[in-house]
Amino acid sequence: MPPPASSAPAPAPWDVIVVGAGPAGATAARVAAESGSRTLLLERAVIPRYKTCGGGLIGASLAALPPGLPLKVYDTAGRFTFALNGGRERTLACSSPTVALVYRSELDAALTEAAADAGAEVHDGTAVTSLEERDGVVTVWTNRGDVFRARSVVGADGSASRVSRYVGVECAQVDLALEAEVPVDERTADRWRGRVLMEWGPLPGSFGWVFPKGDVCTAGVVAARGNPEALRAYKDDFLERHGLAGPRPLHDTGHLTRCRRPDSPLARGRVLVAGDAAALVDHWSREGISYALRSGDLAGRAAARIADASEVEASAAADRYARQVDGVLGAEMRASDSLMRLFSRNPGLVHTALTRVPAMWRRLDAYVAGRDSVAGIMTSPLGRTALALGDRIPLGRPRTPQREAAASRSSR
Ligand SMILES: Cc1cc2nc3c(=O)[nH]c(=O)nc-3n(C[C@H](O)[C@H](O)[C@H](O)COP(=O)(O)OP(=O)(O)OC[C@H]3O[C@@H](n4cnc5c(N)ncnc54)[C@H](O)[C@@H]3O)c2cc1C
Repeated sequence: MPPPASSAPAPAPWDVIVVGAGPAGATAARVAAESGSRTLLLERAVIPRYKTCGGGLIGASLAALPPGLPLKVYDTAGRFTFALNGGRERTLACSSPTVALVYRSELDAALTEAAADAGAEVHDGTAVTSLEERDGVVTVWTNRGDVFRARSVVGADGSASRVSRYVGVECAQVDLALEAEVPVDERTADRWRGRVLMEWGPLPGSFGWVFPKGDVCTAGVVAARGNPEALRAYKDDFLERHGLAGPRPLHDTGHLTRCRRPDSPLARGRVLVAGDAAALVDHWSREGISYALRSGDLAGRAAARIADASEVEASAAADRYARQVDGVLGAEMRASDSLMRLFSRNPGLVHTALTRVPAMWRRLDAYVAGRDSVAGIMTSPLGRTALALGDRIPLGRPRTPQREAAASRSSR
């Protein structure tokens, strides 16, 4: 039935709609707008918003930020302390201080501002509830009753992504992370200044971290999803041992991290996924900001191309996006998956390699600084030796804090 004569014509579709204004979405929106696309960025929360995250920017993340981004860095880590279940602590100096410690609320707001400056229209406080593609146009519905249409969509709506479900993203690894932002007194702040802690934990594949940010420390633990009580117990013990259990935390939250299966889709029709929505996260370190920034950049470029494309060209551009992501970030994730398998089986071997084999620490240091990759480390003679050793060493008895404490006492 034709519309009544008085009804206004439907507004022209946007070239690109981006869902989610984290590092992936804000980057995709900026890059699409810079490419000349009429771009709409939809964010569920009101910006600036809190995000459960250590806020540690490694070299690859810093290199992927837009030049001149105004961002306050609260500390820069020049030393790493590694520990194995509370014992065998060793502190190593980085060749140059690299890991920048920031607040995600500030980083993501600055990236969103950069997208707006590039010409993207930003609607925060607007959650996408569903989407559908028909005849070369994607229709997007929101919780505010808006209906938007676009020639291309980027889903960057994080680890509980709706767009990810639409695209059919599948995960090989899902972890739960628990984190607290703890205000600290001057003495405690001095103890942590310029130093991050990574402690391999009692649950398979788990670790705890402390990231200093001046008068606040961000501390947390991560392990495979499925045993929240054990993880909570580990977190309580971890905070207690590091003198961070006393003060009332400013935030005390949990969040899932997801790692994609290597064959998981990155697009469906004119809809692409990036960052956590695509489950692009390092299996071992659970580092995800560099993945979000890099995939967001590629997705913004691809979405701008798809917006102008015929069906056939759009499909080719989406395939190209998937190949680009897989070629760089997929290769990194396959290497980090092999490291994670080794680490889950034998955290002691990984700890010893990092803390007692100087060449191994130099390579990790180079990776942190952005001069090397996980794939580079794991295919090096050192990495291959560690993998071969890990295969030969039988799985030990399940570790307990008591056994580790005893092992640590006997190694002193
Ligand atoms: C405890 C913890 C610590 C971490 N520490 C680090 C670290 O130190 N360094 C590091 O590199 N990585 C870290 N990570 C991983 C990192 O936080 C993520 O990989 C990163 O945030 C991914 O960015 P993103 O843009 O893909 O998603 P997000 O940052 O999650 O952004 C998604 C955005 O989408 C919005 N959104 C969600 N649903 C909708 C919807 N329906 N409609 C509209 N908007 C929506 C959300 O509000 C959010 O703003 C950590 C993760 C956790 C859980």
